[in-house]
This record gives sequence, C-alpha cells and structure tokens, in this order.
Amino acid sequence: MKISLMKKLALGFIIAVLGSIILASVISNYTVGNKFKEYLVDEHKTKIDNAVKIIDDLYSGQKEVSLINSDEIQRYAQLQELYIEIKDMDSNTIYSSGKAHLQNRNMMGNMMGSMMHNFSGINMGEYTENKYPLITDNKESGTIIIGYFGTSYLSSASISFISTLNHSFMVSAVIALIFGFIISIILSKQISKPLAKITETANKMRYGDLNVRATVNTNTKEIDELSNSINYLAETLNSQEMLRKRLTSDMAHELRTPLTTLKTHVEAFIDGIWEPTTERFETFNEEIERLTKMVDNLRDLAKLEQSNISLNKSKINISIELEKIIDTFKPLYIKENYELISTITPEITAIMDKDKFKQIINNLLSNSYKYLNPNGKVEVILREKNQNIIIKVSDNGIGIPEKDMTYIFERFYRSDLSRNKNTGGSGIGLTITKAFVEAHGGKIYLESKINDGTTVTVEFPNVLSF
Ligand code: ADP
Repeated sequence: MKISLMKKLALGFIIAVLGSIILASVISNYTVGNKFKEYLVDEHKTKIDNAVKIIDDLYSGQKEVSLINSDEIQRYAQLQELYIEIKDMDSNTIYSSGKAHLQNRNMMGNMMGSMMHNFSGINMGEYTENKYPLITDNKESGTIIIGYFGTSYLSSASISFISTLNHSFMVSAVIALIFGFIISIILSKQISKPLAKITETANKMRYGDLNVRATVNTNTKEIDELSNSINYLAETLNSQEMLRKRLTSDMAHELRTPLTTLKTHVEAFIDGIWEPTTERFETFNEEIERLTKMVDNLRDLAKLEQSNISLNKSKINISIELEKIIDTFKPLYIKENYELISTITPEITAIMDKDKFKQIINNLLSNSYKYLNPNGKVEVILREKNQNIIIKVSDNGIGIPEKDMTYIFERFYRSDLSRNKNTGGSGIGLTITKAFVEAHGGKIYLESKINDGTTVTVEFPNVLSF
C-alpha cells in the first residue's frame, strides 16, 4: 500500500511524540516514585522514633505510671495517625490510643492505595504493628506497640504530587501531539509541494514536452539537487532530440544528392537522351564513392560506440609522422593556392597507435582544408610542454558559429556554415577524432571565430607512461 508523504510524516511525528512522552512519564514516575518511597519511609521512621522518644521521656523519672499525663501521647498518635499502646513488664496495657482515628484513613487509603500502587510501589492498605522496649531511666520497664496502616505515612500531599505529575504529562502529551501534528503538516507541505512539481515536470517530459523545467522554491538541499538533475536531464534530452532530428534530415539530404544524380543519369540512358560515355560513368563512380564513404563512416562510428577502442601501440616518432602527413596534403593545398606551413619540434617520440594518430591528424587537416576561404592558410605546430605533446592545427577559414561550438564533437553535427560550403562532410570526423584522442588519455579542444578561423588543439599527456 502506498502512503502519501504527508500522512507518513504526520504518523511518524505522532508516534515519536507519543513514544517519547510515554517513555518520559514511565521513567520519571519510576524515579520520582522510588525517591518518594525512600523519603516517606525515612519520614515514617522518624515519626516512630519520635513517638518512642516522647513516651520514653514521659515515663522516665516517674514512679507511678498511672500519674502519666497521656494527653500528649494521644495527640501525637492522632496527629501522626498511629496506634500507640504501652504495656508494663507483666504485659498489662497501661495506655492505648485506640484505633478509631485510623479507620477513616484506612478506607480512603485503600482507595488511593490501589490507584497509587501502580507507580509508587508502596503497599498502603496493610496494617502493621511493631514493638519497641519502653526504656525508663536506662532500664527496660515495658513495651511500646506502635501500629499503623500503610496509608498513614503516605500523606495526601504526596498523592497529589504524583497525580499532578502524571496529569502534567498527559497535558504535555496532548499539547505536543497538536504541535507535532501542525509541524508535520507544515514540513510535509514544504517537502511534498516541490516534489509534486518535479513529478509534474517529469510527467510532461515523459509525454514529449522537453522544454519544461522544474522551478521549485526550496531550501531542502536534496530536493534542489533533484530539481537541477531533472532540468539537466530535460536539457540533455532536448539537445539529443534536436541532434536526432537534425541527423535524420542531414542523412536524408546527404543520401538524396548522390542518389538523385544517379537516378537522372540512368533515366537519361534509358530514354536514350544520353550515350553512356566513360566520363558519365566516372561521375557515377564518384557518387557511388561518396555513398560508400558515408556508409564507411557510419560503420566506423557504430564500431566506436559498440566496443572499447583497441590500441595497437608502438613507439613512434611523432615529429616524422606528422611531417609525412603534412607532405601528403601539400599537393592539394598547392592546387587550391592555399598555404600550409608547419612548426615542428624534432625528435618527439611517444608510444601510440600509429594508425589512429594518422587518422587524427588527417581528420584535422582535411577539416581545415575543407573550410578554408580563398587565400586560405593553415599552420600546424608540434611541441612538447611538461612532457605533454601538443599539436595545434590553426586555419583562417570560415570558423564555427558560437551556437554550434557545444555540439561540434557530437556525431553528425555540422554547422550551417559548413553545410553551405557543400563539402560533402558527414559530421562524424571530429567525433571519431575525439574518441581516438581520449583513448590515448589525451584532450582535444577547439577555439573558433566566424570568418577568422579555427584552432584545434590536441594534447597527449605524459607520453612515456602510455
Ligand atoms: P565533417 O565531415 O562535416 O567535416 P566533422 O565531424 O569533422 O564532420 O566536423 C563537424 C563540423 O564541425 C563540420 O561540419 C563543421 O561545421 C565544423 N568544423 C570542423 N572543423 C572545422 C574548421 N576547421 N573550420 C570550420 N568548421 C569546422
């Protein structure tokens, strides 16, 4: 059974409050009761001692016991609710206070006693009689019998003290319950309200609205984090969705161009408008190659995403390898009247996957080449800094708009500027390059400004530990 947060909190509070009040009252009843009992027993003992002392004093120095004024003993017996009897050495009763003054008290005591017994542990209903020697002038001259009901030493003040204590416990339990209930409602509202808002946002996202954001006003750290995470998720899903849509239209566009060319050519052949010449077949071949390249790229990417990149490492002279790759690009640049210069620190070696290294540099140089303007210029720099290898490829090409910078390493992402250039790119090159660089423990970053150019920096860390 699912229970709402509000009910759960309220229930928890009530149980906690009730539990602590019951515990506190049981503990304090027990300790106060015990202390009270000790006090009462002490008090009672003093009372009896006093009675014995008064009687001893009265009888001391008296030759004739009948001459004793027993009023004082009677008063004391009544005041202290004691039964006092004095016997001589022959067991003849020479004084008795009588028990009449104990009776009323006894009835009341029984009633209260059963009430109080539970928590004080004092048995108040029993009648007890004790004997003490009557000492007159340092010699035993009789017996004092003192009797009392248990209740007699439990004064009504003490009964009311303990019952007041319990009463105050009950009152505070009720007040604490009301307070606890109010606080639990306020607290649960503070927690459940933003949670409900976040749930609402998540539900909207579930039904496709990725532009919603959870705006919660809370000072609860965890809820704030949850709301930020949900918003981040929405942001990510939104950009992924945007990329997916873009990819579909890009792919359709990229595939349609070569297919349309092929289709119109084949139709012209069928209708007999065109003779199938070698040049025309060459155009066919070019289009088919473009399609094949795209499919190859897609396959590379799928491989990259399915498994960890396996590196076939060996010690390579980066300076020489880089020089060689630049040389292969030179004819292309010369043909377009572009400039390709390099500043390479010699004899930099590293343990790397040679093929992957070549692919990284090839991708960067072909990108620069593709996006150059007339009189374009590309510069490649290789240097070592704190045992890190740094390779920079800078061009003065078309640049990348600010808004595209965050997505540029995403698969199939292409800036609108590059699309206009019709270079036949597929937006996969940089994704693969980044994956290869990171597989070597390296970093890649890109700085760019529209019409100013782009600089891509690749940094391989502590080369000797590869
Ligand atoms: P593509 O095959 O489209 O070049 P990439 O993944 O290599 O794919 O690059 C992704 C996008 O990044 C390109 O379409 C282009 O918009 C942008 N880009 C990459 N390098 C450069 C550069 N040197 N100058 C301008 N734009 C670039």
